[in-house]
Order: sequence, then structure tokens, then C-alpha cells
Amino acid sequence: MSSTTREWQALDRAHYLHPFTDHQALGEEGSRVITRAEGVYIHDSEGRRLLDGMAGLWCVNLGYGRRELAEVAAEQLRELPYYNSFFKTTHPPAVRLAEKLCALAPDHVNRVFFTGSGSEANDTALRMVRHYWALKGKPRKQVVIARDNAYHGSTVAGMSLGGMAPMQGQGGPGVPGIVHVPQPYWFGEGRERTPAAFGRECAAALEAKILELGEENVAAFIAEPVQGAGGAIIPPDSYWPEVRAVLARYDILLVVDEVICGFGRLGEWFGSQHYGLQPDLMPIAKGLSSGYLPIGGVLVSDRVAETLIEAGGEFFHGFTYSGHPVCAAVALKNLELLEAEGVVERVRDDLGPYLAERWTRLATHPLVGEARSLGLIGALELVADKASGRRFDKALAVGNLCRDLSLEAGLVMRSVGDTLIISPPLVITRDQIDELVTRARRALDEAA
Ligand code: PLP
Repeated sequence: MSSTTREWQALDRAHYLHPFTDHQALGEEGSRVITRAEGVYIHDSEGRRLLDGMAGLWCVNLGYGRRELAEVAAEQLRELPYYNSFFKTTHPPAVRLAEKLCALAPDHVNRVFFTGSGSEANDTALRMVRHYWALKGKPRKQVVIARDNAYHGSTVAGMSLGGMAPMQGQGGPGVPGIVHVPQPYWFGEGRERTPAAFGRECAAALEAKILELGEENVAAFIAEPVQGAGGAIIPPDSYWPEVRAVLARYDILLVVDEVICGFGRLGEWFGSQHYGLQPDLMPIAKGLSSGYLPIGGVLVSDRVAETLIEAGGEFFHGFTYSGHPVCAAVALKNLELLEAEGVVERVRDDLGPYLAERWTRLATHPLVGEARSLGLIGALELVADKASGRRFDKALAVGNLCRDLSLEAGLVMRSVGDTLIISPPLVITRDQIDELVTRARRALDEAA
């Protein structure tokens, strides 16, 4: 290891408290130091090049090193580096981005509220749905139904909406009035039934929860189209149509968290469009700027926006960096490039089907119980016994081993328990998909 790497690692160890990191587990080796990136590849301080099968944290949709984004940022920094849009002011980058987003969004969505991140977007959605019902004269409609094992961010509200037990076990109580229903994770929780039956069962559990709570007390249901951090969980085909039917029977808002699925991941601009959903609110972030600068938001349907506006009075909510001009300018350019280069259509028509064909071949591997993908998100379920689908006794150990072996093989994957995940930049080529699958197979072979 070079002395520069060692120096960075020592400083890192001394001063940097990392997100989602067991600092004890860093061991002798320390953190990998990433120094630069281009296209779908990242480079570390030891001169190694890795195919980034995770697009950073599911966000670098347009790939690394796009000069156009750097140039727009520099220009905007010179022109107007900061101004807010509170108190009767606005500025061109945020206005133009708002217009573009609403043009891309489903027809019934014509307004956006900007935030700095996906967590803030979900905090905003939570406050907004409760405020909406209060304005409608139904202040008792306060409970939000979310799903087990969901991830909606790390702020107190994001964590509370999320259904991740380890997160909820830390940092004290969360936001009251949030309850959870089963996730449509067929491989993990439903294999005794057919996928179709299990999808219906999860939707029925949502309806049972609404009836138990009383429709008059339920404000909203929040879910991702495909759960990302939970394990790239693609619901059975029956799930969303049944959930739509349930929600149509009750007056409950639908919040679709598009933080990962938005901006092309599933081969449509929004995951909602893939599943034919008509959300009332759509939290967004990540791919909005391809991760180049931090920006998020909530796309707001006419139904909710008109109530917020027509009721008058102020919604006492917002962030210093809501609609930050430099972030907004970069996000707009990112959307323009995704559009001009036909990236989303290519995921739908070419790369998504291509990945599915190559990735599902891994299902024949002795360690793999299921290989699934949709658009450019995919997962491998690792099993100790292929015939029965039995899991390993120590979940995570094998997942982490495969993840580490894939790094050795030059590929970044993520492990969630014994599920290995990929979510590469959307500009990946067919050849690079082949490279990704070959490297994943090499890691599996070494782990077996
Ligand atoms: N919602 C989903 C579905 C996410 O995957 C994430 C982050 O991974 C978030 C919200 C939180 O976004 P952020 O990390 O930008 O706060």
C-alpha cells in the first residue's frame, strides 16, 4: 500500500465518523480511498479501477466525469452561487428545473417542492400529507402506513417511515403515528405460496391494516416501486394492481418514493410509470442530479398542491438549500442530457432486457437461489442449499464475502444480508454488462 494511501487512511481513522460504518470492522486494511472516476468506473488511490455496479449509492445515473455538468456548475457559481426561494423570491435555475420536472412527471403532477436530499424529501412528504388532511378539515387523518424493511432515509422521519429494525433500535423513539405492513419480498418471505398469491396477500395485509386503524385515521401509504436498499425487491406482478385497487376503495393518499426508481432506473422516467401508479406525492433525489450535487424534492399532484395553495396561509416548512441555484442548474443539465441521449428509453428497450437475460443466467450457480432484475436494478439471493432454497445460518457472512470477492474481481456490488445487489450507471454498455456479470460470477465461484 502506498504511503499516501496510508496517510489518508490514518487521517480518516482519526477524524472521520462515517455513515453506516462499523469503525471497528475497518480493521488493519482501513477504508478504500476513491480518488477519481469516469464513465462506469471508479479508481482508488492504489491505482485500481473498479466497475461501479452500484452507481455510487444508486445515484450516478448519467455516469461519472460529465464535463457538461461541471461547466454548468462553474457558470452558475459565477452567476448566482446562492439565493433562496423563501419570502417572495425565486431564481431562474430553480424555476427552470421545476418546469422540466413537471414536464417529465405524470400529467396530474405540476408542482415540485425542493429539498436537499431524499431524507428531507420524505420528511416533507410526511408533513405535507398530514397538513393536507388538516386543511381538508380531517385533522384525525394522521397515520401513515409504510412497509417492513423499507428505507426512506436517515432523518428521524425518514428512519420512522423506514422499516429497518436495526435503525429503529438506535437513537431513541421515532415519529409517532407510523405503522408498517409486510413487504412483497417473495423469495425471502413468501416462497410457500406462488408469487401471485403472495403479492395479493401483501396487498390484503395493507387493507386489513387500513380497516384496523379506521380509514378516517389514515393519511397515506408510502412505498418504493421496487425496494432498493431493502434488497432490490421486485414485487410480484400482482402486488401493485392489488394495492391500487385497495387504495381506490379508501380515501388515502399514495406517496411513491422515487428516490432510487426515479430518473430511468426501471426504464421509465419514474418507477410509478412502470407500474401504472398515480401517486399523490413523489419524493425524488439521487438520479435527479446523477449525484453530482445534493438535491431532492417532492413532486406534488394537483390534488394536494391545489389544496395547499387554495387554503391560503403558509406551510411552515423549507430548507436553506431548497432549490439551491447551483444544484438546480446541474440537475436541469443532467435531465437534459438523459433526455437528449435517450438514456431512459435505452434502459427500457435494450439494456434492461439485456441485463435480465445475462443476469438470470447466474441462477444456475450453486450459490444462487434466485437471480432477478428489472431495468438496471438486480439482485442475487444466496443460498446454502439450492434444492431447498435454505439460507446460510450466518446471514451476511457469505453476502459480505461475495461482496469483498467481487471487489477483488474489480466490481462494486452491495450485500444486504445474503442478497447481492447491483444498480449500475444507466450509461453502461452491453459489453460492460457482460464484464459486470463475468466479475460477479468469478466472485461467486471463489466463494462457493
Ligand atoms: N428513499 C430511498 C428509497 C432511498 O434509497 C434513500 C437513500 O438511499 C433515501 C430515501 C434517502 O435519501 P438521502 O440519502 O439522499 O437522504
